[in-house]
Formats: sequence, C-alpha cells, structure tokens
Amino acid sequence: MSSVRKMIVGNWKMNGGSAALNEARVLASELAQTPSRARVAICPPATLVHRLATTLEDSPVEVGGQDCRAEAAGAYTGCVSAEMMADAGASLVIVGHSERRAGFREDDALICRKVEAAVRAGLEPIVCVGETLEEREAGQALEVVGRQVRQSLPKSLSGRPFAVAYEPVWAIGTGHTPTLEQIAEIHGEIRTILRETHGEAGGRAPILYGGSVKPDNARDILSTAEVGGALVGGASLKAQDFLGIIRAVG
Ligand code: PEP
Repeated sequence: MSSVRKMIVGNWKMNGGSAALNEARVLASELAQTPSRARVAICPPATLVHRLATTLEDSPVEVGGQDCRAEAAGAYTGCVSAEMMADAGASLVIVGHSERRAGFREDDALICRKVEAAVRAGLEPIVCVGETLEEREAGQALEVVGRQVRQSLPKSLSGRPFAVAYEPVWAIGTGHTPTLEQIAEIHGEIRTILRETHGEAGGRAPILYGGSVKPDNARDILSTAEVGGALVGGASLKAQDFLGIIRAVG
C-alpha cells in the first residue's frame, strides 16, 4: 500500500453561502489545536472558492473546485475554467463526479480533457469513477470502473500529483456502502491499472473511497487495503461531522 498521506476531501456540492465559511473556520481552528495526519481539502461551490481560500489561508486545509471546463477561456456562458479555479485559490479540482457524468452527460473522453486542463492550470485532479447499481448487480463493476480509469486519465498525468476517487453511484447520498471486501476489490483493481498505465506515479496516487462515508464508518473504510482517503459529500457540510472523519485517519 502507498505511504502517501491519506486525503480527506469534502465536496459541498451546490450547498452553502457566506454562512458556510464559518464551518470552515471551526474546522481550521480545531485542526490548528489538534493537527491531523491527513491531508484535508474542501471543494465548495465555485462562488465560494475565493472566499474560502482566503478564509483558510493560514490553515493546512486546501481548497478545490468541483468541476472545470476543459477550455481555458472563451464563449462558454456559465462555465468556469481550471485556470479560473486556480486563480481563485484552488489547488485541486474534482472531475468526472457521477453527478456530472449522469446529469451533464460527461463521458470519459471529456473527463480526460478536463483532467488535462487541470494539469495545464497546475491543479491536482481528483478523478471520480464508479458503477451504477444496475452495473453492480449485473456483475460489471470491475469492468466499468476499469474502463473509466483507463479512459479518463490521460498519459500526461504521469509525474504529476493526482488522485482517483472510487464512488459507487448507488452509495452516494444513500446511506448504503459496499462491503469492505468490495471496496478492497475495486481499489486493488484500480491500483493494478494505474501501475500499468502510469507507472510509478500510478503506484503512488491516492485512491479515495466516496459514498456515504460518515464518522461511524470512516475508520473501517480508511483502513481497508488501498484506500488512500475519502471523498465526502453530506458529512463534509458540518465541521464536527467532517472532523469525525478526519480524526478516523489512523
Ligand atoms: C459525493 O457526492 O462525492 C459523496 C461521496 O456524497 P455522500 O458522502 O453524501 O455520499
């Protein structure tokens, strides 16, 4: 297993206004008093990236975007580029979240271009993959996730920091999680593919688990083979819940 620090990343999705900055302040102050061994990041809505980055300036908590456009600039009303995310203070960006794959019809080829955009802008991409319930029930989870990993991660990632997040679609926001054996099986497969496609960098890249991670299941999940951290949705919105997960890093 990789010896890279575990990453705990909060995805606020389309939640939070100015008041949410206070949760981040509480988190930063708790981590200042009792530092964590984990690398911690929050990915707020685009409207909060700059203010959150300013709020967390003197803290170890990093700020990331939830998505980016593949192009650097242009006539793309409503979109935000990787360069803009970086300029606003982000150091990471999530790409290929299942809510984008399904809701915005993003395919592996587009996600691959977004990962290239993140690298171009100096952002660390967190590339999400994961099977639907139908695919899992049809015995296709390994195949689907394997294909997403092979097709969503460009060769240009080798030598750059990046992470992959395994998020079974049926576990996101549902309170259901795969068994630890199922998580270990998929993470093991992702690691094998990453080594094959990205060599040493692929052997080192953290593979996060995401999908209904809570303070009470985090310790078991985080100590499962090849789990290099967690991508957390709902439980990242409140500082105390998120801290409960961060504190589970052994
Ligand atoms: C997510 O959407 O990335 C996620 C993991 O959500 P939740 O933790 O709420 O299941």
